[in-house]
Formats: sequence, C-alpha cells, structure tokens
Amino acid sequence: MLGALGLLTVGACGAAPETGPVDLLITGGRVMDPDSGLDAVVNVAVRNGVIVALTEETPEALEVLDAGGLVVAPGFIDLHAHGQDPESSRYQARDGVTTAMELEIGVYPVDPWYAAREGRALIHFGASVSHQGARREAFGVMVAERSGQRAFSLGRGGASDAFLYEAASEDELHRLIRLMQRELDQGGLGFGFGISYTPGARHLELWRLFAAAADRQVPVFIHLRSAGAFRAGGAIAPFQEVVANAAATGASVHIVHMNSSAGETAPSALELIRGAQARGVDVTTEAYPYTASASRIESALFDGWVSRPEEAYQALQWVDTGERLTAATFRGYRAQGGWVIMHGRSEETNEWIVSQPDVIAASDGIPFSEGRAHPRGAGTFARILGRYVRERGVLSLMDGLRKMTLMPAQRLETVAPQMASKGRVQVGTDADLTLFDPARVIDLATYDAPDQFSAGIRHVLVAGTFVVRDEALVDGVAPGQAIRGQTP
Ligand SMILES: [Zn+2]
Repeated sequence: MLGALGLLTVGACGAAPETGPVDLLITGGRVMDPDSGLDAVVNVAVRNGVIVALTEETPEALEVLDAGGLVVAPGFIDLHAHGQDPESSRYQARDGVTTAMELEIGVYPVDPWYAAREGRALIHFGASVSHQGARREAFGVMVAERSGQRAFSLGRGGASDAFLYEAASEDELHRLIRLMQRELDQGGLGFGFGISYTPGARHLELWRLFAAAADRQVPVFIHLRSAGAFRAGGAIAPFQEVVANAAATGASVHIVHMNSSAGETAPSALELIRGAQARGVDVTTEAYPYTASASRIESALFDGWVSRPEEAYQALQWVDTGERLTAATFRGYRAQGGWVIMHGRSEETNEWIVSQPDVIAASDGIPFSEGRAHPRGAGTFARILGRYVRERGVLSLMDGLRKMTLMPAQRLETVAPQMASKGRVQVGTDADLTLFDPARVIDLATYDAPDQFSAGIRHVLVAGTFVVRDEALVDGVAPGQAIRGQTP
C-alpha cells in the first residue's frame, strides 16, 4: 500500500513540477485522510501551500516538523461560524479550524464583506447571501452600514421591523429574488436563511426562493422555521417543509443545527432526511455537540417567550453574568439586547446526534468580538474528538474527522470548486492541516468560561503557513483566503 505513496512531486496550481527542497516536511505523524481511507505513519511534504508528497522517504526540506505521536488531519471546515472577526478566528484556529463560513444567516451585501477580510484573515472564510439582509432592502429599509464590517445580526437593527414580520407582496418577492441572485454574482456561496428570525416570510416565499436557488444551482442553508409556526405539527414539521421544497424545486438544502431544531425528535428528523436522500433529494444536516443553544434575546426567536410561566425562564442563562433569568430579568434584558444561553436538551440525545457519522460537525459559534459567548465557538471540534471519540467511544476517530473535513468540503464543491482540494490529505490538495494529540485533545470552554482555547491542537497550517504552532497562536500571519461561489 505504502509503495503507491512513494515520493510524487507536483507543482502548485498546475505549474511545472518543481525541484529542490520542499518548504516543509512533516515527519512521523499518523496521517488520516477520510476520503482515501489512508491511516498510516507517513511523511507529508509541502511546497507553495500544497501537499506535494506523502512518502516514507525524507526528501530535502527547508524545514522539518516532527509530528511523532500526533494525528495529521485535514484542517477542520466549519460551515456555521458567525464569528467572522479576528478574535473569533483565534479561538477557531486553536480548535483546529482552517476554514470558517457564515452560511446560516449569511451576509448582505456580499462584496464589501469579502473585501474587508481579503489579505487580513487568519483562516479561510466565505459566506452565503443573507435572505434577511436582502429582505431588508426589498422592503425598502435603508441599509445603514455598507462597510462590510457590520457584525452578525439577527434583526431588529433598523427603523422598521416590517422586513421581519410582514409577508412579502408579489412585487417585494420578485425584488427579493432579484437581489439575492445578484449577490450570487458577487461570490455568495448560496442562500442563507434564519427563517425563524423573519416570521413574516411565508411558506410560499421560501418555496419560491428555493426555486431561485435551484435555478442558479446553489445550495440553501437554513435555520428552520420555529415549530410553533406549524400549530400542532411539532418539531418534525419544519423539516418536512424544507425537504418538500427541495424535492419540488431540485434545490440542494443544508439544515443547520439539527440538534437544537429537532431536540428530542432528532432520530425522527434524521430518518426523514435519510429517506429523502435515498430518494435523490440533496439534503444534509449538521450539529454542534452541546445540550444548550444560544441566541440574541431581542430577536424574534423569543417573541413566544413573553408570556411563559415563571419557571421557564430558569432555562435561560445571561452570558455576561452567568445568572439564570426570571420573568422580570428576561423583560429587562430583552429591552437591552444581548446573548442568552438556552439550556434544556438531554445529553443522551446530544450524544446520539454526535455519534451519527452522516451529521456534519459545525459550531454555530457566536462572535467573540461581541464579548463572552457560548463555548461552542471555541470548543466544538476538540470536544467531538476528545469527549465523544476518545472518552465516550461513540464515534471512530476516522468518522469524527470525516464529519469536520471531507463532508463539509463536499457540501460546497458544486458552488465552490476549490473545496475539492480541501478536507483531504492527498498529493495535490491544499496544505490546510491540523495536527493534534489524540490522547490529549479536549475542549476547555464552558458556559461559565466560554473564552478558553481548546487543548491538544498542537499545530495548524493554513495554505502551508503555521497559524498555530506548539499550541500557541502565531503572530503577524494572514494566510486565510476567500472562498467565493462560482455560479453559472
Ligand atoms: Zn441558527
């Protein structure tokens, strides 16, 4: 087997083969590639940000890194990372992430968002076209900040909430479709929906927008409608809505955080998704490995909370102070605005979801630039590898890696062909690599102390450049590249 892996040297980007020493030789690591199934101790040679050899030999190199005792994996790809600022990137890199995307809520407009990050990013980045942002413009609400720097928003930012709560007229819907398709031409990676944050978006609107996505052959990323919007339908009804839309239009759909959307009905939700897949519907899903959720307390997500019984508020934890809420403090903080954690799902179901090999790992990490946050933005990937793979043994290491490398890369390959050279450790693929100690890797971020780096992620390379070395961030590097959509 290893004979076939003998030294092969290729030039980057299809250039002529180069000779002379490689830039970096990673020696003695256990290389794991979920695509080919390779799981062996081999040396990895890197030149110009690309893997040029997997070999038992030791070709001449400008630098040699001893990776004895470490796993050499493809860099982790997070499809759901709201933290798109330098502070968040540091936590992501220390958790092994080399590509972090804002696909759920998306951004609007797209071009200034990419421009603001180009040449300055620690890790690779990309975003979908935000339905909520485009809806705001289609409804005639002025978009105040066009710098592209505006933080992730869940609504209630403008003079009018009409764009969140009102149904679109026929004219507004046509305008919305035009605006969203226009932003695809600026590099958007698909359409991003936080549909429970825009309760005015009716079922017809969502269906038409799935058709518009299918028309341009781009995926839809969606936070499902709140189950309460379906009367007696329960948590499974929102899954049925998007699977039906995908089947009827041919759109590809990625359902975000099925753990928080499905709750205890997760096994049924996954059965529905698998059934649709088996019948040719392109539907995927993801989860983060925690029993609590988090969101903005002022958003529409909490509209239904205002009349709950007093005990219900105990499930809510104010991030800034760590306190559990009461009806009175809920009202006060809702007027003020900020991040709140929602406890309540069972660890049994959480573990079951994490152990399913076909559920992609994604963090839903909240921007650290907005202060303290949910620990998922700092610890998702190390938590899966340390807690669920090593300690609990509910997932094999290769299956765990596949969920955070190959599967998210494949989800984006139709819209972003360069993803075909990510999520793999193969000759010719990008040298986005995460080297971790399988005996030590673990998350350290908690609900009370969310701003803790993960442990055991020893080295992280982005396009061949170290961003984490010996478990410390490297200063003054910005190798992160824009991942843009390429649509017909
Ligand atoms: Zn969400």
